Amino acid sequence: MSTDRERLEEAIALSRRSPPSDSAFSVGALVVDAQGSVLASGWSRPHGQRDHAEEIALGALGAGWHAGPGTTLYSSLEPCGARSSRPRTCSALIVAAGIGRVVFAWREPSIFVEGRGAELLRAAGVEVVEMPELAAGVREVNRHLVRR
Ligand SMILES: [Zn+2]
Repeated sequence: MSTDRERLEEAIALSRRSPPSDSAFSVGALVVDAQGSVLASGWSRPHGQRDHAEEIALGALGAGWHAGPGTTLYSSLEPCGARSSRPRTCSALIVAAGIGRVVFAWREPSIFVEGRGAELLRAAGVEVVEMPELAAGVREVNRHLVRR
């Protein structure tokens, strides 16, 4: 079974498929069940400028889908907790889907909206694991958006 680190590296690799944008991050996401099977994946903007990777991955599972025990969502970036473009944030979608565990690499810098996803997820009882050791790879994908 793949480790958290390997799955998160897969999510970061997926983020590179995102069409470039000057106004939004490129993100990759995977939904993995307790047995280690990848149920769905997504990246930013496959259909339109406002698509987020996590909502694309969850959307691929269908509106009535509900996570089984031990399901983990991997995202290269902290799931959004505030969002101007859509009524539901990715954090809200993750909670609504019953996903009990989220692993991400990079805590969203407050460039476009306040990054409060991790706190919202934890408040909803979701286990949140940050792997900042992989954040450099996410910053690299989004280097045109971030001042160093
Ligand atoms: Zn989002």
